[in-house]
Amino acid sequence: MKKNKKQDFSRVVLTMDSDLYRVRRLVIDALYDARRVLGADLPRVKVRIVSFEDGKLLGMAFLGKNDICISRGCEGWSADRVRSVVWHELAHAWFGAEHTEGCPLMGAVDNGKYDRAAEERVLRTLAGDSFKKKGK
Ligand SMILES: [Zn+2]
Repeated sequence: MKKNKKQDFSRVVLTMDSDLYRVRRLVIDALYDARRVLGADLPRVKVRIVSFEDGKLLGMAFLGKNDICISRGCEGWSADRVRSVVWHELAHAWFGAEHTEGCPLMGAVDNGKYDRAAEERVLRTLAGDSFKKKGK
C-alpha cells in the first residue's frame, strides 16, 4: 500500500464508465511501462480504480496476489507519481515485496520524491530475487 499516513483500508470499487476507463488507462500505461522495464513474463494484474474512504490512501495490493487498487485521485497526479505508486503496488503484487524505510520505491509513505532510475533499479532487483526463488 502507498499512503500518506496511517489509516484504514476501507474502499469502494468504482463502477466503470467512460470517464473511469480513461483514469484506469493511466494505471495500465504505468503497468505496461513496468513490463517493458523488466522485460519478463509477468502475470496479468487486475487493476481496480477505487475510492478510499479516508481519501488519503493512494493504492493497495495484497502481497503475492495479482490484484491492485489505485485511488481514483490518480487522475490528478503527476505522471511520475502515478508510475511510482503503481510500481510500488505491482512490487507488492508480483514479488511479495514488503515496505522498506528509505527505499525509493518501497517506502510506506509517499515522500513526494519520484526517481525513475532508482525505481527501475529496485524493480529489477525485486524481480531478480523473485525469479531466483522460483528457480527460473
Ligand atoms: Zn505499500
